[in-house]
Amino acid sequence: MNNRYGLIYEGKAKKVFSHNDVDKVIIEFKDDATAFNALKKAKFEGKGKLNCLISARIFEHLVKNNIPNHFIELKNENTMIAKKIKVIPLEIVLRNTAYGSLCKQTTIKPGTTLSKPLIDFYLKNDSLNDPLITKDRIELMNIISSKDLEIIVDLTLKINGILKSFFRNIQLQLVDFKLEFGYDLKNSILLGDEISPDNCRLWDLNQKDDTIVSLDKDRFRNDLGGLIDAYSEINQRINDFI
Ligand code: UDP
Repeated sequence: MNNRYGLIYEGKAKKVFSHNDVDKVIIEFKDDATAFNALKKAKFEGKGKLNCLISARIFEHLVKNNIPNHFIELKNENTMIAKKIKVIPLEIVLRNTAYGSLCKQTTIKPGTTLSKPLIDFYLKNDSLNDPLITKDRIELMNIISSKDLEIIVDLTLKINGILKSFFRNIQLQLVDFKLEFGYDLKNSILLGDEISPDNCRLWDLNQKDDTIVSLDKDRFRNDLGGLIDAYSEINQRINDFI
């Protein structure tokens, strides 16, 4: 990365640099992978590039469907230019099918189709291990107003509809995903972060039986191997479809 740009923030999977325009940032996608609140770590060569390219295509698709988001343009294969936002410290998880932590914390069996999408809120706070929180607790902590939380929930449901059919078109089942939102300089709410197999569960629909074939970060979480092959497959299917 060019030294002219100052590092503003380094997260587990991305670095954020300043841009000459004050209302923009440069986001570099890293090859690092973490799971279970960073208890498990690894590096996968090429993951940053694949997540950047996949996210860029998905953000473009969301813009076409009137979902405001921070993506402006690709700078190169693992770097994008985005609108600067003040990130809201919440992770919004939407689930269509039960899997992962939902099945560890409840009696719902993995793979159960949920009768309606379930939205879970998590507090973005590493020292507290990103706990599951409630609407009332969000209000209590004054993180955002209940009106803005409603806007975020509505956007998340709309994004789910758009992404479910986007992925179905490329033979993938959207099991669940995590979103992050922020405020731009005009105080409008925008979708930020990334949309990639790092934060979406995607199951291959090209299966003859009910076997679950994960083409997402579960390949790392559950030691299944073949993470780069899975992410490349998703990138390829998106490019073939667009
Ligand atoms: N997720 C994420 N970041 C997190 C936690 C979850 O992107 O810090 C995504 C994850 O990839 C999945 C969805 O949110 O698509 C639901 O994850 P879950 O709560 O099941 O968490 P797990 O314990 O399985 O990571």
